[in-house]
Amino acid sequence: MIPLSVPNISGNEWKYVKECLDTNWVSSVGKYVDLFEQKITEYTGAKYAVATSNGTAALHVSLLLSDVNENHLVIVPNITFIASVNSIRYTGASPIFIDVCPKTWQMDLDLLEDYLMNKTRQVDGLCLCRETNKPIKAIMPVHVLGNMGDIEKLCEVAKKYNITVIEDSTEALGSRFNKKHAGTFGKFGCFSFNGNKILTTGGGGMIVTDDKALATKAKHITTQAKSDSFEYIHDMVGYNYRLVNVLAAIGVAQMEMLPSFIDKKHEVAEFYKDKLTKFGIQFPETIKEMFQNNWLITINVGEHKVKLIEHLTKLNIQVRPLWKPMNQLSMFKQCNYVNNDNISQALYESCISLPCSTNIKKTDLQDIIVAFEQYYNKRL
Ligand SMILES: *Cc1c(COP(=O)(O)O)cnc(C)c1O
Repeated sequence: MIPLSVPNISGNEWKYVKECLDTNWVSSVGKYVDLFEQKITEYTGAKYAVATSNGTAALHVSLLLSDVNENHLVIVPNITFIASVNSIRYTGASPIFIDVCPKTWQMDLDLLEDYLMNKTRQVDGLCLCRETNKPIKAIMPVHVLGNMGDIEKLCEVAKKYNITVIEDSTEALGSRFNKKHAGTFGKFGCFSFNGNKILTTGGGGMIVTDDKALATKAKHITTQAKSDSFEYIHDMVGYNYRLVNVLAAIGVAQMEMLPSFIDKKHEVAEFYKDKLTKFGIQFPETIKEMFQNNWLITINVGEHKVKLIEHLTKLNIQVRPLWKPMNQLSMFKQCNYVNNDNISQALYESCISLPCSTNIKKTDLQDIIVAFEQYYNKRL
């Protein structure tokens, strides 16, 4: 089988992990945790980084530190992986889903502005939803598939309406907008190192911020809010959300290879573009300010989605549909979904993700193209 996207463990992972095991530094404190955080700040240009047990935890903590609670609303795109919205629900807050732009597949900023202008009002520095009178406390842009919309504009809009920006940049490590890294535009940026992300620690995450006080709080809240180095004194209800040293060691080794991973993703994306556009297949548009990491290469095949999935699966080529739009999931059906043309649904009905591991073989890529040719030529 040609898998969708698998880890590429080919650097110093064994060496660094062995060192953790040999020295007994296996748990939530150790030099690799510090080093991994340092590598992420150096790479992204964020001032501070706090490693977490996964990306969902990073999002949850960022929301908590933005004082989001059950009285609040949080804006999020309708196309994302479930974890973004789950993290919002963990705080008790409710999501407002905004439809996506048909070109970039990212949150539609015109819809966002229109909504804020016409459906909210400012009271005492809070942005209240007119219908429910609940404050919209945060907005969580998700850099879907490693691409980004106009994040600078989004931040300007959020500022105008007094809404905190928490970037779900879990899919976008290495992506940049005007040379500035994904995750460094909002008050917080969150990364994930799950098995299928561009870089993996097995499971892991990271919060980045430029605010020292918030970084300190993030570290505190992710280590059970222990406030004394000797006694078990805790000053709030905290979480056990820290990344362990063994996994951070894998992360440090993976960081050494990240530039080559991004080069490879780019190469694979270009290959697919070159070979597949002739069939009328579309790729998400990347706006000119963007450099994207091509994390998970996903195409729009229009009405061919179901049949193509069937065809490719039969040939042992692993493909996946796009995530089911959030507004359609049973838990979120009650939530507000802001849209004109339900682009989310159209994309869901016509997009598939293609194999794009950083260690994919040239012959596998060629086999995939042959499979596409078979499919489309048969139908001509
Ligand atoms: C992967 C992902 C997450 C969560 O990361 P985990 O490390 O799996 O918890 C959150 N949001 C999006 C959009 C993701 O793709």
